[in-house]
Amino acid sequence: MTPHLMKAYNRIDLEAVRGEGAYLFDSAGRRYLDFLSGVAVNALGHCHPVLVDALRRQAETLWHASNLVRIPDQERLADRLCHASFADAVFFTNSGGEAVDFSLKLIRRYFKGTNEPGRWRVITFDEGFHGRSMAAIAAGGQPKLTQGYEPVVDGFDRVPFADMDALRSAIRADTAAVFLEPIQGEGGVRPFPPVILREIRSICDEHGLLLVLDEVQTGFGRTGRLFAHENAGVKPDIVAAAKGIGAGFPLGAVLAVTKVADCVVPGSHGSTLGGSPLGAAVGNALLDVILADGFLDGPDGAPGHVSRMAEELRAGLQAIAGDHPDIVEEVRGTGLLIGLKCRVDNKSFMATLRDHGLLTAPAGHNVVRVLPPLNVEQRHIDEALQILHQACAGLRAAA
Ligand SMILES: *Cc1c(COP(=O)(O)O)cnc(C)c1O
Repeated sequence: MTPHLMKAYNRIDLEAVRGEGAYLFDSAGRRYLDFLSGVAVNALGHCHPVLVDALRRQAETLWHASNLVRIPDQERLADRLCHASFADAVFFTNSGGEAVDFSLKLIRRYFKGTNEPGRWRVITFDEGFHGRSMAAIAAGGQPKLTQGYEPVVDGFDRVPFADMDALRSAIRADTAAVFLEPIQGEGGVRPFPPVILREIRSICDEHGLLLVLDEVQTGFGRTGRLFAHENAGVKPDIVAAAKGIGAGFPLGAVLAVTKVADCVVPGSHGSTLGGSPLGAAVGNALLDVILADGFLDGPDGAPGHVSRMAEELRAGLQAIAGDHPDIVEEVRGTGLLIGLKCRVDNKSFMATLRDHGLLTAPAGHNVVRVLPPLNVEQRHIDEALQILHQACAGLRAAA
């Protein structure tokens, strides 16, 4: 490995050179079933023809123009997102971290324009992950994120995961918002139960706080709905999104309700490349696929493709956990954001799966994340389950 890359990652020695649908190929030509999906980014697997076509056509038309001019595809993407979600307005970014950072800025700015300008603190939950900007590591709060980067940005009050008593007692006169991931991704695929999310919404209403969600990982169909909060029937005030929206192209978005969006005026925020013609073309193409009938929603309220595949995968994983309780302790998550809480070391379990040709992602709490592309097919699920069975049987034989 070259010494000219900073050592921010402990990389797996796999040279990724090509992708095709649900499969990733390394430089030796070996094929892997890719249930890592670039950490929940490749929503439609690799080189999906609709995305490739949109990107190729846009590449021959216009790459970048700046947000000093109107970008028709960006306007269309914003219209479609607002039409399909809780939001009234959108700001486009290039990444999840930027979307989180602006969401946090919006909290402060919103209250400055109200009759409660002293509200600025944000309540977050233990083991959240929100990205790597100065504010995002402060919101996440874990020492492994903040170590060496002190002084940490002030204004975040952390409470234990889903602890409603702790949440209530953390609210002060200067509290402005509650900020969380509906399902903690990096933290170990820990979903907030829907009833807890609804309670958080009503606590926010009771105290005049904004509910701000980090749906960077859970958004854009990952849980079977456009956004995970829809599963709980909760309406947030601000949502930070990214990962799946660009399906591998750098794109993110901050979605907000009118009262929050109205505090943004010319000059109060910006991004040189956010929502560029290239990004907007890909975002629109992604929506063409995931908002099509039958993908998220089936006919007459029946589950769509993502939920059906999630059900199949989950049932198979439960069976594996049942057969190998010494290896897999629990299957958790929603939709195609699934975590296997392991009894063996998660990283060595992942290495075994990789040896058998299956890629997965690690997460906190000794969890292996199983993140298929949203357009995964039954045959891929069958293949993954077979690999998992073989890997578990092999581990048991070796023990
Ligand atoms: C990945 C992720 C981020 C950071 O996104 P980047 O695009 O890496 O900046 C923030 N929040 C959550 C929940 C994430 O999963």
